[in-house]
Amino acid sequence: MTRIAVLGSTNMDLVAYVKTAPRRGETVTGHEFRTIPGGKGANQAVAAARAGADVALIGAVGTDEFGARLRAALDGSGVDTDLVRTTEGPSGTAHIVVDAHGGNAIVVIPGANASVTHLGPGDEALISGAESLLLQLELPMDTVVEGAKAARRHGVRTVLTPSPVQPLPPELLAATDLLVANEHEAAALTGIDDPKAAARALLELVPEVVVTLGARGSLYTARGQDPVAVAAPEVTAVDTTGAGDTFVGALAVALGEGRAMPEALAWASDAAALSVQRPGAVAAMPYRKEIDAAAEGTTP
Ligand code: AMP
Repeated sequence: MTRIAVLGSTNMDLVAYVKTAPRRGETVTGHEFRTIPGGKGANQAVAAARAGADVALIGAVGTDEFGARLRAALDGSGVDTDLVRTTEGPSGTAHIVVDAHGGNAIVVIPGANASVTHLGPGDEALISGAESLLLQLELPMDTVVEGAKAARRHGVRTVLTPSPVQPLPPELLAATDLLVANEHEAAALTGIDDPKAAARALLELVPEVVVTLGARGSLYTARGQDPVAVAAPEVTAVDTTGAGDTFVGALAVALGEGRAMPEALAWASDAAALSVQRPGAVAAMPYRKEIDAAAEGTTP
């Protein structure tokens, strides 16, 4: 099995379902409440584990009741949580209001994620034994940079998802092998709306770039090469939450197993297309068998 390390966030998503979101000063009655384990780090870790990798997460949960649930959810998904610290205080939370049209408004409170201010004992050893390190931007930036540099020292591929989008320090870019941005992130990072042109601009910063385009698939480009368009399978999407994380997790697994980029991208697209056909983020992430079956055009 390919080994993947993830340095990233864990949050409990607290989701209120309402007809119309409240305006300032207003109180509305909703019809449903759910607590759903999430956070971009945890989501990418689960996606990669289901896609068939040996995955370990580096991060933190709090001492509140959510912390225990978040850890249990990761353990239950087969993610190694030995290097997930338990930090005194609350876990990370995302407070989400979803309206009848599927529109949402979100407040993220980092909680324990903010306590991951540097790599801890064992973290670098874990990273050094992995095929890839997956990074996002929901932990303190200095820690993300430290993780990327540690991976670089050991020749481990770094895959960065620039979310939530923010300026990327040159040190981080210098230690990034593959940047996987959605079209909004690519536009925000470059100031260029056209995804192809944005991908070209990003290539001046990192050696390989994927820009994901939702139902329109993705674009892959590497230095000195023309962009390659990867089609998304035509499916009926019911919930695209977590599609990007599923894509990144599956892509890392395929690359870790030694597949060439075009084949790895097609496999990741099959995985992401499965995830959009079911509700939820982690709940919708496909298992290896399903991805292989989709890739072969059979049913598992
Ligand atoms: P996004 O973050 O929306 O760009 O989506 C990430 C990836 O998920 C895309 O590159 C597609 O491979 C896949 N995806 C997202 N939405 C859809 C959809 N409606 N149909 C099929 N695949 C999708």
